[in-house]
Amino acid sequence: MNGWSLIYEGFDPEQERLREALCTLGNGYFATRGAAHEAEADATHYPGTYLAGGYNRLHTEIGGRTIENEDLVNLPNWLSLTFRHPDGNWVNLQAVDILSYRQELDLKAGVLHRSFQFQDSQSRKTTVTSRRFVHLGFHHLAGLEVVITPENWSGALEIRSALDGRVLNAGVARYQALNNKHLTSLESSVVGEDGIYLCMETNQSKLRIAEAARTRFVLDDALVSLTGAVFQEPEYIGQEVTVEMKQGHPLTIEKIVTLYTSRDHGISECGVDTRNALTSAGGFEDLLRSHTQHLDRLWQRCDIGIQDGEDSQLILRLHIFHLLQTVSPNTIGLDVGVPARGLHGEAYRGHIFWDELFIFPFLNLRIPDITKSLLLYRHRRLDHARRNAHQAGFGGALYPWQSGSNGREESQTVHLNPQSGRWTPDNSSLQRHVNAAIAYNVWQYFQVTDDWEFLSFYGAEMILEIARFWASLALYNPEKDRYEILNVMGPDEYHDQYPSADHPGVHNNAYTNLMVVWIFCRALEILDMLSDDSRTELREIMHISTTEAELWEDISRKMFIPFHEKGIISQFEGYGDLEEFDWDRYREKYGDIHRLDRILEAEGDSTNRYKLSKQADVLMLFYLFSSDELRLLFKRLGYTFKYSTIPRNIAYYLSRTAHGSSLSRVVHSWVVARSDREQAWELLKKALRVDILDVQAGTTAEGIHLGAMAGTVDLIQRGHTGLETRGGTLFFNPCLPKGLKALHLRLFYRGHSLDVSVTQDNFQIGSRPGRSTPIRISIKGKSQKLKPGQIVSTTI
Ligand code: BGC
Repeated sequence: MNGWSLIYEGFDPEQERLREALCTLGNGYFATRGAAHEAEADATHYPGTYLAGGYNRLHTEIGGRTIENEDLVNLPNWLSLTFRHPDGNWVNLQAVDILSYRQELDLKAGVLHRSFQFQDSQSRKTTVTSRRFVHLGFHHLAGLEVVITPENWSGALEIRSALDGRVLNAGVARYQALNNKHLTSLESSVVGEDGIYLCMETNQSKLRIAEAARTRFVLDDALVSLTGAVFQEPEYIGQEVTVEMKQGHPLTIEKIVTLYTSRDHGISECGVDTRNALTSAGGFEDLLRSHTQHLDRLWQRCDIGIQDGEDSQLILRLHIFHLLQTVSPNTIGLDVGVPARGLHGEAYRGHIFWDELFIFPFLNLRIPDITKSLLLYRHRRLDHARRNAHQAGFGGALYPWQSGSNGREESQTVHLNPQSGRWTPDNSSLQRHVNAAIAYNVWQYFQVTDDWEFLSFYGAEMILEIARFWASLALYNPEKDRYEILNVMGPDEYHDQYPSADHPGVHNNAYTNLMVVWIFCRALEILDMLSDDSRTELREIMHISTTEAELWEDISRKMFIPFHEKGIISQFEGYGDLEEFDWDRYREKYGDIHRLDRILEAEGDSTNRYKLSKQADVLMLFYLFSSDELRLLFKRLGYTFKYSTIPRNIAYYLSRTAHGSSLSRVVHSWVVARSDREQAWELLKKALRVDILDVQAGTTAEGIHLGAMAGTVDLIQRGHTGLETRGGTLFFNPCLPKGLKALHLRLFYRGHSLDVSVTQDNFQIGSRPGRSTPIRISIKGKSQKLKPGQIVSTTI
């Protein structure tokens, strides 16, 4: 490992799927796992290509009922490029002697390199090297170059380069019982002298995917004229070529691929445009160069430098890299959200959760247009959210916990516990708090950008409709003289009902209730701050009466927040009555106890009975709000809130958390950042290693954890600089964790390009020269203006 390269030495079948996920290359439009080009899906390999927003639905009979799932579809495998001796089998690394093997993901250039040397049963030694990219600038294109060198032999070699549409969505073992064939073949043909073309369609959403590939062979600096055959099967087209190889003479194979779909903008028909793009595409080397230039520009905006004396720099860059493979400037204008597991695998079926909350802050301060585009994905589904609310018996808009194509609730209703083999109810769609996250994201985007157009045309409507939903869910309890929110789930998925209840949901989840108060405050503030015309327009269109606004005001002052023990905020009402969990016994018995839900269910027990959490729940409040903001919220509600209770709450819940979600350590590291800088660093280091070390045993191979990846980056970016964007001021309150010597980053804020450097005892911010109007910054409570070209430095 160096600061820019993820390197694997040696071939390890056990690790292969993990490496595929971590070596995925994408451009925000489509992404392809880092699978071996010579491999097909089997127990070791899982080639996968996914299109942002490329969903399809299928029905399956399970346990006597029909369920419908929507998946991000695995598209035809464009990588497929293999070879064999006329007397042998197609190359398979598991059937030969591997003499050397190396794989390197070059983050700076966005290139995946593989090289290996092997010896077959007839003692023929062959070296193979390859490079590939998914073009960042021209997002319909990818390239693969494979160089084959016969080390001690000469003779014929058969090479097959294909577009393989016989793919399934079979990347997640837990989903094996579900139907997984999403694609139907439409047509395939030859393109020009050296190209092939395949067009397929998803069988429910009728999305057409057209891929074309041009494969060229160069031996001794000369193009080898093709004397092969085209090999066509349903859902598959390949070119087979025989080349006379000469000992020591490398054969270079260059495969350029184009991909369009029927949803693309600015096309005639995806097949036509795919073929045209292929015909006019340049050579591998030129395309690679322009791809790298585009990525270089993105790195200049997005890189974060840290010095910790360990390998955290590389991992941090890996996280930024995968964020940019999933969403990039190419995402702007697409009707897509950001899937929790990236475009890197099939876990969670490519659905979009509340994880955006952890992802958007990085984008807001780099390329806020991406956030805007992702928020517009939500706005386009506002009508569906209204219908969701209506169907559930509420007003306003209810966004789904898992979102896919059209904003319908995509959460499954049953899930398989691989540990017990049982299907159990999945109540996670009761996580209504996703509606708080969406409102929060809209507001944060506005705080950073001051984008009034967005707020008045889209953002305000979303926040107000979400507020309306919460108002219809909140019930007034005269005995308490408080409003309550019943039958929901908080972020902690280990509590989906009371131990002896016969229906799902818990009451008064503190995180949800307080977020709701915050939403009402913002809804009222928005109504107040919009221009008279915009306000009147919105109130008329949305029929917001004075009585309705008064109700919001009332709820925002009388929401119930449960407490138990002295000053400990209860995760939900009744949490204090649950049993303490025997952590030591379970650690001793099982070792890895991240997934206590599965362990306890397999034992016939349930996490619902205990004071334990999968992930931060109450502590999300300390993650999202400063202590001043929290104090104001509690004051508004008439609850006493002492700063001294914060560390007690943190200690209480931190010691009862299994970290079963990758998001958990990010939040915990954040909330202890100021009180325990050593622990903050330990937690951050663990959060950084969740995917690279596949801490959740096998889950990263099914897709990276994008929320956690982005969350770690944001921890460095905002957590340790103490960055907040509020009321037109950019606040900094830097505090580095013990193990971090320095950090450097570039931010984009209201037309300013800012360079920020923090060490253990110094903070410096400089605005690059330009014409933007000065911004207001505040460093450790000292407010001042910053002009383009100005540098401010201070000890901390
Ligand atoms: C977590 C959720 C998260 C989801 C997708 C779950 O394991 O509990 O909070 O949204 O994964 O990342």
